[in-house]
Amino acid sequence: MPFAPARAWSRLLSASEIATATAALGARIAADYPSGELTLLGLLRGGLFFLADLARAIPAPLRIETLQPQSYFGALVSSGQVTLAPGSPRDLDLAGRDVILVDDIFDSGRTLRRVSDFCAAARARSVAAACLVVKDAPRAAEVEVRYRVADIPDRFVVGCGLDWDGLGRNLPDLWALDPSAPQDAARKQLLALLAHPA
Ligand code: 5GP
Ligand code: MG
Repeated sequence: MPFAPARAWSRLLSASEIATATAALGARIAADYPSGELTLLGLLRGGLFFLADLARAIPAPLRIETLQPQSYFGALVSSGQVTLAPGSPRDLDLAGRDVILVDDIFDSGRTLRRVSDFCAAARARSVAAACLVVKDAPRAAEVEVRYRVADIPDRFVVGCGLDWDGLGRNLPDLWALDPSAPQDAARKQLLALLAHPA
């Protein structure tokens, strides 16, 4: 009998756990900003789904803006450099606004540091951060993540907006990669998950 390959991916968070925690976050954010007007600044592309879910969970007048920072470039680890996609910040007016940065995952902290500095330079009135998950990983930059759905172990994850080389963002659950899994098996199993959502 052929040897069955070990499962490369395990489910860390289900879509319903994420939905419940996101609803609670939305209510908390509305209570924290009683004067109303807020700007959610979503970081593309990973923050896309969390941005859409969180925005709909906040009962307050919102502006929704986006920026596209990049640091992974298709790999399993960050390049360590964060760049903002050319042109994206140009028509963004954050002066005097209360801004909440919305991203998929907080890892080294470099992305949120870079974007927080950008908001400060754009004279935002306040800047806070909301992330779907916060990874238990070494930080290169400290930023307070005031709003989060969950803390997770230091593993590479996909789903809920997070990708591996462009794929996996549309998985409704969050999946963690076994670091000992061979990459070709991991890729095959990711494609199988995408074709047959469990
Ligand atoms: P940081 O700048 O905090 O190191 O990383 C933040 C960015 O790196 C996230 O917005 C995300 O795009 C990417 N990232 C960090 N960890 C992971 C991960 O486990 N999986 C995926 N797909 N992207 C990650
Ligand atoms: Mg990102």
